[in-house]
Amino acid sequence: AKARGRNGYQLYAPSMDGDGAERLRMEGLLRRAIERGEIRLHYQPQVEIETGRLIGVEALVRWHSAELGHVPPARFIPLAEDIGFICQLGAWVLEQACRQVVCWEKAGLYVPKVAVNLSGRQFDRGSVAPLVACALAGTGLAPQRLQLEVTESVIMNTGDALQYINDLHALGVELAIDDFGTGYSSLAYLKQLPVQTLKIDRSFIKDIPADKDDEAIAVAIVQLGKSMDLAVIAEGVETAEQAAFLLRHGCRRAQGYLYGRPVEPAELLETWRQDDAG
Ligand code: C2E
Ligand code: CA
Ligand code: CA
Ligand code: CA
Repeated sequence: AKARGRNGYQLYAPSMDGDGAERLRMEGLLRRAIERGEIRLHYQPQVEIETGRLIGVEALVRWHSAELGHVPPARFIPLAEDIGFICQLGAWVLEQACRQVVCWEKAGLYVPKVAVNLSGRQFDRGSVAPLVACALAGTGLAPQRLQLEVTESVIMNTGDALQYINDLHALGVELAIDDFGTGYSSLAYLKQLPVQTLKIDRSFIKDIPADKDDEAIAVAIVQLGKSMDLAVIAEGVETAEQAAFLLRHGCRRAQGYLYGRPVEPAELLETWRQDDAG
């Protein structure tokens, strides 16, 4: 039953009884996971390809449940969204990520930026800007060092998305479009948004250089970014060959296993502090 896909709308279907019970159990555990200290953030480096310099990190949430073991975000984020827990979780993530950057700095590692993922549900109540303002005020992090990642689908599916994004922009934080190329954002709409960065989705990177269509798409996104004066970062870069290809086509930033997996704050500090001091 565990292998079956999650689907909130099938909760009451008779054939789904097993999953329903399991889901209910997971829901109960998830609601208490923060207070039980089971939720943590890992951080993945983002680098300038040419120099290998650290330009930022992306915060990625982890849940290690005492009862269920490690639960991947692809499983519990959608659940958190369905049960309305994402706002609490999202607020915790925001605050924690901002605090971490300040903390690293005190320990001798300057991380220029931290990227935090926002889910659609955090958006549709219009309460996201006050939340971000609160995290910044509470930690003293400069707003331009916080980058919020939102997917195209979230932007296109949320009424008033433009309003919420403008509210965030007014705080001075940066905005990135995540998984770019996989949604259906209209380019005209993109032009209206105060967005600074496009993140090329991993699906277009992973088969470079074997898949020439993917290469063409990646290059097209880089060129689009250039013509709209947006920074472009490729995600899921795993090989030196992919990095070289991207650099050759004008993409200067990357994130992926080639540069580092998402790791605990202490490990990020150890890995990057020396380089930084050098
Ligand atoms: P995402 O935002 O697209 O994050 C990138 C995912 O790709 C991460 O998976 C990361 O570990 C993985 N990744 C990075 N580099 C490589 C690579 O070179 N190769 C491969 N194969 N994978 C790579 P992860 O941590 O499992 O997160 C999955 C998704 O869960 C994220 O996708 C994001 O949509 C969501 N997520 C994670 N943390 C949060 C959060 O704090 N809030 C919200 N709303 N969503 C989150
Ligand atoms: Ca992301
Ligand atoms: Ca992504
Ligand atoms: Ca393909």
